[in-house]
Amino acid sequence: MGITLINFAYLFASVLFILGLKGLTHPRTAVRGNTLGALAMLLAVLATLLDQRILSFEYILIGVVVGSLIGVAFAAKIPMTSMPELVAMFNGFGGVASVLVAGAALIAAPAPSHQFTVSTAASGLIGAVTFWGSLVAFFKLMEVLKRLIQFPGQQFFNGLLTLVCIGLGGWLVLEPGQMDVFWIMVCVASLLGVMLVVPIGGADMPVVIAFLNSCSGLAAAATGFVLDNNVLIVAGSLVGASGLILTQIMCKAMNRSLGNVFFGDSGATPTASGASDDEVYAGKIKSTSADEVAMLFDTARRVVIVPGYGMAVAQAQHAVRDLADLLEQRGIEVEYAIHPVAGRMPGHMNVLLAEAEVSYDKLVEMDRINPTFQQTDVALVIGANDVVNPLARDDNSGPIAGMPILDVDKSRTVVVIKRSLSPGFAGIPNPLFAADNSLMFFGSAKEAVLDLVTAVKDS
Ligand code: NDP
Repeated sequence: MGITLINFAYLFASVLFILGLKGLTHPRTAVRGNTLGALAMLLAVLATLLDQRILSFEYILIGVVVGSLIGVAFAAKIPMTSMPELVAMFNGFGGVASVLVAGAALIAAPAPSHQFTVSTAASGLIGAVTFWGSLVAFFKLMEVLKRLIQFPGQQFFNGLLTLVCIGLGGWLVLEPGQMDVFWIMVCVASLLGVMLVVPIGGADMPVVIAFLNSCSGLAAAATGFVLDNNVLIVAGSLVGASGLILTQIMCKAMNRSLGNVFFGDSGATPTASGASDDEVYAGKIKSTSADEVAMLFDTARRVVIVPGYGMAVAQAQHAVRDLADLLEQRGIEVEYAIHPVAGRMPGHMNVLLAEAEVSYDKLVEMDRINPTFQQTDVALVIGANDVVNPLARDDNSGPIAGMPILDVDKSRTVVVIKRSLSPGFAGIPNPLFAADNSLMFFGSAKEAVLDLVTAVKDS
């Protein structure tokens, strides 16, 4: 296949990638966008395989088959609630692939140019940080790694590691024959990846995931320069740029700056707000039942459903939709309040509710729904905790301090469905549960909502 035809195929794939991303900007067109992106990737892979520079197909085919099997197995088996961990791992694999490809290219390069060595160093550095950072994020999301590792002078140490990495990268550019320097730089960058993410905890993980996603794209783009592969440069840059935009959206949603997440210390202390569970809850919790909540609905004109991580764990989205349909049939206005970091990955609630075929225009973003809570009769909080915690507004020292929240406490009545008074991801008590206008409906989200459906039908 001629080089012009290959580049034409790459160009076409790049256009498909961009159209795919555009499709992903709206739930209605997201499936088509995803298909376009997958098609673009297939075209890019096929064009690369047909590229005349490829001498032997055997190993590539083995890799394609093994990779596809693993990909299909993961996609088919992974539960929706573990999707964030999977995304973290995929980011990490992208990073380590960049490191290995850059390393292999360096070994094979006879007379490397400056463009080649600079991009090899960038690919090795960013790829290693991404892989190890993602691995730590993966274990944090799995809640295997709960402890926040902090020590005096941590930021200075991280700064030093960064400087050493850059220094080693510079050395590699000047003396590209020094393979050892490349691998030492990769080791130091790996340590940097671990050290950057271990002290981050509580509510800040969404920002970390979005940022690592962007890094995996940048590493791929750098590898594109190493291999002189145009479509890899374009696709990597698109991932890098969209990841950065997502990082910015997540930072805004948490009222944090990126520097503050990585180098500040709020968000790293899960129980910083100090108040114990007893101080917040003792004697103030009122529990309720399905029948009582159905009676509240009898007189309600507007109900806002507030989904959170618990709805995802319980897979309650279909039951929730049935309940909403039932309420609407009775003339009640129902909307869903969507917090940008509800759940464990960006867009988690949108995906689940779309799966249950909830109409998109019923999902209302935080900024638009907050002013309406005062006119809401019942706010039904289903497995959400941190995103409705008034401490974010009222306490300026806790791990979620300053994070914008859904102002459910301003509704006439708040009904909270959860199994116990356990905290959410940030690990702090929630005064909402003890508020005068709050009722706790203890139970697992799916069963509790199904009970509500029965109670509403019987009322
Ligand atoms: P939270 O993690 O704050 O709270 C979830 C609540 O769900 C828990 O309090 C738990 O209480 C309840 N729950 C768990 N299982 C069930 C069940 N089966 N039925 C009913 N309830 C259940 O969730 P939010 O969505 O409010 O907040 C998300 C948090 O996750 C934020 O701190 C955010 O920063 C963080 N995060 C978000 C990411 C993102 O990209 N969106 C990524 C990583 C972290 P109980 O055990 O009592 O039932």
